[in-house]
Amino acid sequence: MTEVLLARRKAAVLAPSQLACLAKIPTVNLTAGCAHNCVYCYARSYSQNPGRGRITLYANTLEMLRAELPRKRKRPPAVYFSPSSDAFQPVPQVLELTYKIFEFLLAQRVGVAFLTKGKIPDRHMNLLKAHAPNVHAGIGLTTRDERISRAFEPGAAPPEARVAQIAALRQAGIDTQVRLDPILPGLTDDEETLNAVFATLGRLDVRDVAISTAFIRPSIARNVRHHVHDKKLAETFLRHYNPGAKLTMHGAGTSVTMPPAATRKAIYQRVRRLAGRYGIAIKICTCKNGDLATDSCHIAGNPSGKSHEPEQRTLF
Ligand code: SF4
Repeated sequence: MTEVLLARRKAAVLAPSQLACLAKIPTVNLTAGCAHNCVYCYARSYSQNPGRGRITLYANTLEMLRAELPRKRKRPPAVYFSPSSDAFQPVPQVLELTYKIFEFLLAQRVGVAFLTKGKIPDRHMNLLKAHAPNVHAGIGLTTRDERISRAFEPGAAPPEARVAQIAALRQAGIDTQVRLDPILPGLTDDEETLNAVFATLGRLDVRDVAISTAFIRPSIARNVRHHVHDKKLAETFLRHYNPGAKLTMHGAGTSVTMPPAATRKAIYQRVRRLAGRYGIAIKICTCKNGDLATDSCHIAGNPSGKSHEPEQRTLF
């Protein structure tokens, strides 16, 4: 059960993210904290995060948007939800606010882009389907293994529900990207696990998958040790970061620890090979892998409408 604290947002809603890939469109978090409680979540260490089991809902977001949008000289082509929370957390107040805000933006012909590991309720799905050309969906799918998903993403939708959602979104003609992010080294990066994911995505005719291994910070390592009850799973994951590669998150400027470049290269090459079997193109998240890739993984789709975006270049 998640406790919901209510807060009033003071700063403008339509502000760009610090992440380079999201710099072109406004990004909105409806909450601080997230009921999905992923143990690898980077946002859990943010100062506004009210702590595990609680979220802060910015209840006046719609009201502020209604006031802000007409004042914009140039309307944004789309708004992205959410760089450090999830619009589809299993919390009724969050889902209600998400619905109303999506409804408002889409009625104003402003697109919505989102990334979720949650379950999209039927009511929201119908709204998205009714505005399919103005929606970019991102579904985070880390593995098809229920046990690992429950251990690392205890509040998120089960993998099979996410797969069903990808199918429904694609069937509705909605631009849908799958993010195999984060890959958990030692747990979800083996040939069999990856093949199961890509065979499924290939059947769903997914052609575009963005990837990255998880990054950690000391607080994330502590969370993993504390909240993953199967200690063998926790240590199998963490040992890939010791020693790790110290990197700076592109755009955000914060430092994180990734598996060493050689480990990531091997994982990404394996992913690319297996994805290629099913005709799926791989984009590496550049914000987290500035040493290995350039250009964008198109986390928010292509809201500018330009059709000739450069292809991603990898440095290996
Ligand atoms: S869904 Fe995203 S924001 Fe929510 S806990 Fe998981 S990683 Fe964090």
